Amino acid sequence: MPVHLISHPVARALLTQLRDKQTPSPLFRQYAQRLSVLIATEAMRDLPTEAITVETPLGPAEGARIASDVVVVPVLRAGLGMLEAVLSVVPHARVGHIGLQRDEATAVASQYYAKFPAGLDNSEVVLIDPMLATGGSAVASLQLLAARGARHLRLLCIVAAPEGIAEVERHMPHVQIYTSAIDSHLNEHKFIVPGLGDFGDRLFGTM
Ligand code: URA
Repeated sequence: MPVHLISHPVARALLTQLRDKQTPSPLFRQYAQRLSVLIATEAMRDLPTEAITVETPLGPAEGARIASDVVVVPVLRAGLGMLEAVLSVVPHARVGHIGLQRDEATAVASQYYAKFPAGLDNSEVVLIDPMLATGGSAVASLQLLAARGARHLRLLCIVAAPEGIAEVERHMPHVQIYTSAIDSHLNEHKFIVPGLGDFGDRLFGTM
């Protein structure tokens, strides 16, 4: 199964703070950033590197630099809560955006915006969408990226529902999923249980 669970104690502690409904937006943003750094670091583990040599004050040292182009694509708006963190891990990445609106009644996502850098076919493409619930938005975004040429895709989220994971696996079986939690189920409103509520609302204070 292409699902990677980030279960580092620091990640679990940060996730717990995010879940806590008492956590206010300013702290929610900070915890989301810090947790996203851990998730992104793990998700970039297999990036190809090339050998380089640098000069330390004491002489030459062999090292590495990341050899692949990376494109990070947040799904608006909640994905923005992970963007700066992912860019801190791969500062050379370019950024695309996908705007999806979830119908509150049906939970079906429709696209209202998409803009990507050129050359997706030769890039490691990192979709960031913190809550993998039904999988509808993630699959729509991944399919759009694939249609624009992306071949190497990974999905970073903070909380995933089994239903969402199954949906991604069914439609996009080659996509690697990185998450800090796999929760119990979706409720009748398609929210993740126990989850953390509406990520975008808690991030931006629009409750
Ligand atoms: N989006 C959210 O923000 N939270 C959920 O639980 C599901 C989708």
